[in-house]
Amino acid sequence: MCYIGRFAPSPSGPLHFGSLVTALGSYLQAKAYQGKWLVRIEDIDPPREVKGASSLILKTLEIFNLFWDDDVLYQSTCSERYQSVLQSLLSKQQAYYCDCSRQRIHHLTNHIYDGFCRQRNLTPNHQQHLAIRLKQTHPIFEFEDNILGLQTVEPASAQEDFIIHRKDGLFAYNLVVVLDDHQQGITEIVRGADLLPVAAKQISLYQQLGFTVPTYCHLPLVLDHNGNKLSKQNHAKPIELDNPTSLTIQALQFLGQQIPQDWQDATQQQLLDWAIAHWQLSTIPKQNAVLTTNVR
Ligand code: GLU
Repeated sequence: MCYIGRFAPSPSGPLHFGSLVTALGSYLQAKAYQGKWLVRIEDIDPPREVKGASSLILKTLEIFNLFWDDDVLYQSTCSERYQSVLQSLLSKQQAYYCDCSRQRIHHLTNHIYDGFCRQRNLTPNHQQHLAIRLKQTHPIFEFEDNILGLQTVEPASAQEDFIIHRKDGLFAYNLVVVLDDHQQGITEIVRGADLLPVAAKQISLYQQLGFTVPTYCHLPLVLDHNGNKLSKQNHAKPIELDNPTSLTIQALQFLGQQIPQDWQDATQQQLLDWAIAHWQLSTIPKQNAVLTTNVR
């Protein structure tokens, strides 16, 4: 079976050093397996989208010689496909409408949904906007991460009927990520550890839809000096584009990889080729970390 990996940025801002680590890690893992590396722009949330971010992200990847192997998939073009899965889940009663308020859920233990609307058979009308929840029939209590090892999931969270279509009319990330990873034939998901808590929900959806479950690798997060994840929403500094080789070296160091001695003389492509040949999943740190070198 051919390895297919991916990088799936949301266009909510330019790439920062943390996203470079994710892009590079997923790229090197795919290339070390002589696999394909795909890019998907997760633009399903227009209010969070920053104008021009998609093209800037793609331009940044090109400047780092992180070339993708197939056409970029834009989630904004896939609504019909998502809608038909939603309809099919609803018609098979594997999903249901829910009108519970945020406030109500806020008062539940650990804010975990209690299935209140499961038996209510709500149907949408024009005045009321309803969310759609998956009827959880395949709870995942543990799963293996190829970097972090066996992950156990809190039972109540594993069994939660999670949202697959939002009250505001947008498709939920947990739905579309699974539909697209399946559609694109992704065999392994390499991404930031901020998404570790939703992996079990996503695996349960693969199972419920009868899809083959990919393997998972969650990479350590880059933290700022306050211990927060660098993120586009926190306005992390965009990566500078004038010295990709030096930033690639810092990202490789962050990922616990060897560095070639004479890297200053290498082109970006030579550096990537070297990194592919020397890539080791087993030396990637399991802990999130503050970057100690001066990222520029
Ligand atoms: N679009 C998500 C993000 O930018 C990543 C989704 C994923 O890798 O599953 O954080």
